[in-house]
Amino acid sequence: MAEVQEVSPGRGELEWETPLYRTALAQFEQALPHADIEDFVAERLRYPERALVVSVPVHLDSGKLGVFPAYRVQHSTVLGPSKGGVRYDMEVTLGECAALAMWMTWKCALLRLPYGGAKGGLRCSPKDLSPAELQKLTRRFTAELLPIIGPQADIPAPDMATNEQTMAWMMDTYSMQAGHAVPEIVTGKPIALGGSLFRHEATGAGVVMVIARACQRLGWRLGEQRCVVQGFGNVGGVAAGELHDQGAKVVAVSDLSGGVHDERGLDIPALRSFAEEHGSLAGYEGGERVTNEELLELPCDILALAAREDQVTGENAGRIKAKLIAEGANGPTSLEGDAILADRGIAVLPDVLTNAGGVTVSYFEWVQDLGRLFWSRAEIRAKLADQLGDAFDRVWRLADEQGISLRSAALVSGIREVAGALTSRGIYP
Ligand code: GLU
Repeated sequence: MAEVQEVSPGRGELEWETPLYRTALAQFEQALPHADIEDFVAERLRYPERALVVSVPVHLDSGKLGVFPAYRVQHSTVLGPSKGGVRYDMEVTLGECAALAMWMTWKCALLRLPYGGAKGGLRCSPKDLSPAELQKLTRRFTAELLPIIGPQADIPAPDMATNEQTMAWMMDTYSMQAGHAVPEIVTGKPIALGGSLFRHEATGAGVVMVIARACQRLGWRLGEQRCVVQGFGNVGGVAAGELHDQGAKVVAVSDLSGGVHDERGLDIPALRSFAEEHGSLAGYEGGERVTNEELLELPCDILALAAREDQVTGENAGRIKAKLIAEGANGPTSLEGDAILADRGIAVLPDVLTNAGGVTVSYFEWVQDLGRLFWSRAEIRAKLADQLGDAFDRVWRLADEQGISLRSAALVSGIREVAGALTSRGIYP
């Protein structure tokens, strides 16, 4: 390995090497000794294949021109077109997109989807933009991405602060350039444009399918667990609803406005209607208010992290009281946090497995679009449960056999799939 490193100039100082990318890379390095892959393959996979940096100009409602930095990073296209969401957030950087793209590669490969990994992002404060501004921003961003996206090249999807409407604008912009409708260019679209049933709920529902499988393995009854859910958007809100429907007691939830806590169990359907109506949990009166920090440290059995990266860290991991953590967000546990949780015997269901329901149903959507043949909700739900269950069992078995964490086992499974393909394909030319 030393020899390979010496011939790759720029190691440690490349443009995308921010703390989050270093976290993704460090997780890769931790998994590598168990993956048994060739050095040249490992070296290739340490770097994203391609990154596009653009600035997106938009005439704002005020009449002023705003220019927004935006990125799309394709980590791998070895197994197929790259796949991954597009997020609108003030924290977006090239390095964040690169880290998230690498995780998408392992996630798709672990689920045996014929995709590589990508992620895009646009640095903005979405809550301060009007629908008209968001539409212009999305259309111009899509136009800037045209050279590298395509149904067989790179397929965007929703992520933080993007949704079905964002995907509809992306689909329309791409289709206007192509001269005909191309529904398969994005996933997570409205049903009327070729979107899939159950895509909207898939990530949150998938989180609970993975939690339920883990409970089975641990000999716990899901209906007897006390759960805390951080994040109440498309992932956390749906996950909290599913947990509630399956009889678990959800004792606290949170969003950007803070948390709501009730030891007797929250009325999740009421909270979801409230959040839908008011745009957030602010002002909800059916429970005691807690801060985000307090929420993470509440006594509970299962803590679902469905907000954003870097939430359980070296600073607070020692005070977490949950017995099991489920990563609905991407990268919510830092390296230091992970090590402390492992020392304390707290199991972590890793992001690349736990939140893979979203991209799995994205794959179903793309297949339905390409075939122009649509499936029922029940069929999609059952296929998702099968595919997540199979991945869960492979990860659990590998962790057991090799005595490694579930995260390392999930990464090893994904890395092996990509490595097998890259070894056969070789390096061009
Ligand atoms: N943004 C989601 C994720 O992080 C979904 C990506 C997709 O459906 O392509 O997995």
